[in-house]
Amino acid sequence: MEKERQVLVIFPHPDDEAFGVSGTMSRYVDMGVPVTYACLTFGDMGRNLGYPPFATRESLHTIRKKEVEESARLIGLDDLRLLGYRDKTLEFEAPGHLQGVVREMIDELNPSRIITFYPGYSVHPDHEATAEAVVAAVSEMPKSERPTLQLVAFSNNTQEDLGEPDIIVDIEGYEKRKEKIMAAHESQTGPLLKTLAAKTQESEAARQMWMKNETFYSYDID
Ligand SMILES: [Zn+2]
Repeated sequence: MEKERQVLVIFPHPDDEAFGVSGTMSRYVDMGVPVTYACLTFGDMGRNLGYPPFATRESLHTIRKKEVEESARLIGLDDLRLLGYRDKTLEFEAPGHLQGVVREMIDELNPSRIITFYPGYSVHPDHEATAEAVVAAVSEMPKSERPTLQLVAFSNNTQEDLGEPDIIVDIEGYEKRKEKIMAAHESQTGPLLKTLAAKTQESEAARQMWMKNETFYSYDID
């Protein structure tokens, strides 16, 4: 992992950063790289209301906002941006709108690397809308000025279509911090945290999956 000028992480939901990216973000922060996390919605239409449920549809907005703020604190971010779009509606924004928002952030921050979802391989419509907006915004830039894209892909056909991930970030030494980050998103992560804490084969598999490496794909625009 090289020292970047600035890393910009863009996801639609509080907790999108926790599972697959928070170790990488923490490592960049510890290297002294400025990291911005732009989270587009408050995730307040999420189906999960806690395990057992402790949130209501009305309180989920406040709860998830606090959760992502705590996650950002644990990662060590000093630039968390909550853009406040409505959860589960990003795909219905006017064409080009999100792309413009992303482009403005790029112009302001001048990131050398952007982490987001991989278009076509990120399952949820909000994820896809985010991924498409980022790739479109970067595509529009002159080639020499484009930040490097580092993308999260996890749909079932990912390996079949894209092969093995080509960016593998070793997060050894970050397990405890990552576990706390995942625990900060209490309303969403209960079952996985339980699995991770158990002393079973399933738990070992989950630890292998989440606590050793974080994997990404690079993306060639041309
Ligand atoms: Zn999400």
